[in-house]
Amino acid sequence: MRVVQNPPQAERLLRDATLRVTAPRKAVLSAVHEHPHADTETLLAATRARLGSVSHQAVYDVLRALTDAGLVRRIQPAGSVARYEARVGDNHHHLVCRSCGAVSDVDCASGEAPCLAPSDDGGFEVDEAEIVYWGLCPACQSPPAGR
Ligand SMILES: [Zn+2]
Ligand SMILES: [Zn+2]
Repeated sequence: MRVVQNPPQAERLLRDATLRVTAPRKAVLSAVHEHPHADTETLLAATRARLGSVSHQAVYDVLRALTDAGLVRRIQPAGSVARYEARVGDNHHHLVCRSCGAVSDVDCASGEAPCLAPSDDGGFEVDEAEIVYWGLCPACQSPPAGR
């Protein structure tokens, strides 16, 4: 697992993406690195832990800017709130637990996008297939104690 959390790294990523480096952007980007697949509330709390007071709207705006710049990937499994991760550009997929909502990464099955060829592409030039594997995580598979 890739963990990048020191502010200088966040600063470099922002500069490489030609984004202006601001304290909220550094803090939010670091929070996304530290909490893969976290929702906005979790990222807001982590950002506040670093910066002190910061508004909900500010964190939303930063997440949008980071997502637009390709530094952060936004995923939203059906029935879930939006979640964010810093692992970008590798076309990885997600395993999502139907019971507790746990999300974990799984590498791209074919190695590159689109991972799955449509049975009929309808003339589209397909560049991405978003794949979510639904099921029960190991913790949710275990029978309740006492059986
Ligand atoms: Zn589960
Ligand atoms: Zn992921």
